[in-house]
Amino acid sequence: MAKKDIRVTFFYADTGVWKQAKKSKIRQTLVQWADGFYDGHNYGFRIDQFPIVPYSEKVYQKKFCLFKTSGPKARIVDVVALSDEIDEMKKTIKARSAISDQLKALGPREDLDAAGQSAWDDLHKKRDELGAEWDRLSLIYDAELEMQIRRLLHPIIGSLSSPKERLPVIFCEFSAAFSSDQRSAHGVTYRSRRTWYPSAVLTMYTGAFVLINKDSKSRFVLAHEICHAAGCEHQDTPPNNLMRVGRETDRSFNDPANVMMTPDDLTRLGVAIFVA
Ligand SMILES: [Zn+2]
Repeated sequence: MAKKDIRVTFFYADTGVWKQAKKSKIRQTLVQWADGFYDGHNYGFRIDQFPIVPYSEKVYQKKFCLFKTSGPKARIVDVVALSDEIDEMKKTIKARSAISDQLKALGPREDLDAAGQSAWDDLHKKRDELGAEWDRLSLIYDAELEMQIRRLLHPIIGSLSSPKERLPVIFCEFSAAFSSDQRSAHGVTYRSRRTWYPSAVLTMYTGAFVLINKDSKSRFVLAHEICHAAGCEHQDTPPNNLMRVGRETDRSFNDPANVMMTPDDLTRLGVAIFVA
C-alpha cells in the first residue's frame, strides 16, 4: 500500500531562531523521530517537508522567518508586542507566591486565634483572586498570540508555491512566563478555526498550526503535535501512547519503536486535511 504524506511546512519565528535551529539540527532530529515512528510501525505515513531542503538562505529568510529580527534574545512575545500582558502575568505570579509564603508562615488555620484566622481567610481570598487574574491574562495572551500568528501566516501561505493543505510548524522561543506550564514546555498546537465568520477568514490563516520550542529536547514533540493537529487528545493509557501526558521524562520514548498510537488516533490522522 502506498504511503500517505503528512504535509508539513516549517517556519521560524525570526532569523535568529532559524540560525540556532540550523546549528542544533532540531528540525532534522524531530523529522527523523517522526519518520522512524510512522514508518517503523508500518502505520503508512511519512513526513513530507516543505520547503524541500537544502534551500537557499535568502529564500528562507524571506518566506519562512515570520520576523526579520535576529539574535538569541529575539522572542515571539517581544515582536508581537505582547510584553504588557507578560509583565502583568509575571507580576501576578510573583504576588501570588508572596501570599503563599505568608500563608505558610502562618501555619494551619485551626492553630490560629480569631484574629489570625481572619487574616488567614483574607490571604486565601487574595490568593484565589490572583489565580483567577492569572487565568484571565493567560487567556487574553493566548488568544492575542494566536491571532497575531494567524495574521502573519495568512499572506505567506497564500504566496507559497505548494497549493496543497499543509500543517505549519513554527520553531520559536517559549516565553519564560510559561515555563511552569507542562503543556507548553515543548510544543503547543492551535486547532483549526474554520467556523470563523467570513471577514476574519479573509485576513487570517484559519487552519491548525503548531509551535515548537526551539530548545526542546523532546524528540517526539513533532509527531505528538501532528496528532493534536489531527484532533487527537491526551490519553494516559497505554503507558507507551504517543499522546500520554508525562512522557517527556520517559526515556523509553527516545526510541520510536517503543511508542505507539491507538487505532482511533490512526484513523484521525489518516483523514486529517494535511494528510494524503
Ligand atoms: Zn500534548
